[in-house]
Parts: sequence; C-alpha cells; structure tokens
Amino acid sequence: MKIRNRLNPSDPCFSFEFFPPRTDEGEANLLKALEDLATLQPGFVSVTEGAGGSTRAKTVELVLRIKQEAGIEAMAHLTCGGHSPAELRTVLERLSAAKVDNVLVLRGDPPKGQTVFEPAPGGFRYASEMVRFIREEDFNFCLGGACYPEGHVETPSRDDDLRHLKAKVDAGLDFVVTQLFFDNAFYFDFVERARRAGINVPIVPGIMPITNYEQIQRFTRLCGATVPMRLALQLERVKDNPEAMAQLGVAHATVQCMELLSRGVPGIHFYTLNKSPATRMIVSALRARS
Ligand code: FAD
Repeated sequence: MKIRNRLNPSDPCFSFEFFPPRTDEGEANLLKALEDLATLQPGFVSVTEGAGGSTRAKTVELVLRIKQEAGIEAMAHLTCGGHSPAELRTVLERLSAAKVDNVLVLRGDPPKGQTVFEPAPGGFRYASEMVRFIREEDFNFCLGGACYPEGHVETPSRDDDLRHLKAKVDAGLDFVVTQLFFDNAFYFDFVERARRAGINVPIVPGIMPITNYEQIQRFTRLCGATVPMRLALQLERVKDNPEAMAQLGVAHATVQCMELLSRGVPGIHFYTLNKSPATRMIVSALRARS
C-alpha cells in the first residue's frame, strides 16, 4: 500500500516510528512495543536509520520482518550517509522485491562525533539528490521526506529552508513528515507558507510524547524545537516525578493532536522511541473521541 493513498483528512492515518535496537534488551522492548501498538491498527510504521547510515542492514531487516511477519505496512528510512548510489540501488531492489512500497528519503544526521554532514564518496549531499536518483531509476516507490516547521537547524533562514523543501518535493516526493514540535502554531504557519510556496503534498505532523525531562532537553537542543514557556515551567515542576512527567507528556500531546485533527491534518506520525504506553494512551483517547 502506498502511504500517499492513506493520507486523508477525512480518515486521518496514525503511524508509529521505531528505531533498530542495539542490544538484546532493546530488541525485547521493541517487540513488546510493536505488539502492543499493532493492536491500534496503525496506517503504517516506519523504521529509522542510524546517523551516518550506520544501521542500514538492521533497518531493512526490521522493515521486512514487520511487513512479512506482522502484516503491517512498514516504511524504511534511508539516509544519504555512508552509502554509495550503487549500494542504495541494491537496497532498493531488495525492498522492491519484498513489496515494500514506501521509503522515507533523508540526508541523515552526521555520525556521532561529527558536527558537519559529509557525503560518502560519490554519494549524495542533500536528500533531494537521492530523491532524484530514485525517480530516475526504474522503481515505483511512494517517497516521503522530512520537513521542519521551525526551520532546519543548519538553515540560515526559514525562507531558504522552504525553497530547498520545494526543490526536494519537486524532485519527486509524495508526502512529507514534520520534525517534532510542541506548539501547533508552528505547524499551521508552516503549512500556510508551504502552500503559498507551491508545495502541495500532504504534510504529516510528527508528534513526540514527552516522557523524560533530560531526553526532551537533549532532543530539543539537537533539532531546535521550541518548548513553549508554559510547558517548560510545567516540565520543570514535575521533572523529578516520572509518573507526573508521563501524565503531563500524554496530556500535552493529546491536546496537540486533538487540535491538529480538528483542523484537518491527513495523519499523525508518532515518534515512539520504541515505547508503547504514551502513544497507546494518546491514540486511544483520540479514537474514543471520534
Ligand atoms: P535535506 O532535505 O537534504 O536538508 C538538509 C539541510 O540542507 C537543510 O538545512 C536544507 O535547507 C539544506 N539544503 C537542502 N538542499 C540544499 C541545497 N541544494 N543547497 C543548500 N542547502 C540545501 N536522521 C537520521 O539520521 N535517520 C533517520 O532515520 C531520520 N529520520 C527522520 C525522520 C523525520 C520525519 C525527520 C523530520 C527527520 C529525520 N532524521 C533522521 C533527521 C534528519 O536526517 C536531519 O534533520 C538532517 O539533518 C536533515 O535531513 P533532511 O533529509 O531534511 O535533509
């Protein structure tokens, strides 16, 4: 199933993102989260690729397993990092042969210890180059890409970032998924600016339920997402109480999602961090309300 056909404001699609675990314990956690969230019948799930393309083999294995064993539509994240176009072609052939219809095309984060992204020899510098490559080859994937309501961390200006997003979409994207955000005003404003710039593909909001104070501080530092002052004060107040923190995270994300749905988003993508309870509570609350 091509994800672009599931993105529909009158029947929005809930999707879940996972990452390939590094340890046996991590794998057990992932399988438990997957099993638990599968009962919510997601429109699709996606599997990330580690910075610098470091988990490509694991990412592909996990996507194939989810698709074949759990029967859930699974999308592979493929990054420009660490891989040549020839290697990419081999991976795409494998995915295509296994009837994986969807790929999220990314430049990727620089590997640990590096601050600047360096393409592999003969590889791609920007996600748009990889999109163009896939479209020029004889594949029939539905392609997604990333976008940034508050601007990408490296961009000198949001207008530049939007111009580059337009070029990436024009190269052949079918939909885009946003970076996490905690204030819906950034998403609505971004969609308006994107439409004005001629970007007409579905823009799926990406939501991360906050469950851990230090973790959210690290993520927001890395991706530049703003934590609204009121939420920051509430988080500060409950930072030493994990249960209250989880409740606050679920409550905030649920309110965000309710507003997004009421204003006609085509779907919501949840950054699960391989944990199910928060996402399960939010999706259950959203379903109960509709
Ligand atoms: P690009 O679209 O290539 O943009 C990168 C930067 O270059 C931007 O600042 C852009 O404005 C600029 N730019 C683009 N084109 C040009 C040009 N022609 N000239 C000059 N500047 C240009 N990272 C991972 O490593 N693995 C993952 O699995 C992963 N999954 C993600 C999923 C989602 C939904 C999102 C939102 C992000 C994800 N990321 C992942 C993070 C992402 O890889 C980083 O944010 C990365 O820094 C940028 O990737 P991109 O695909 O948006 O890059």
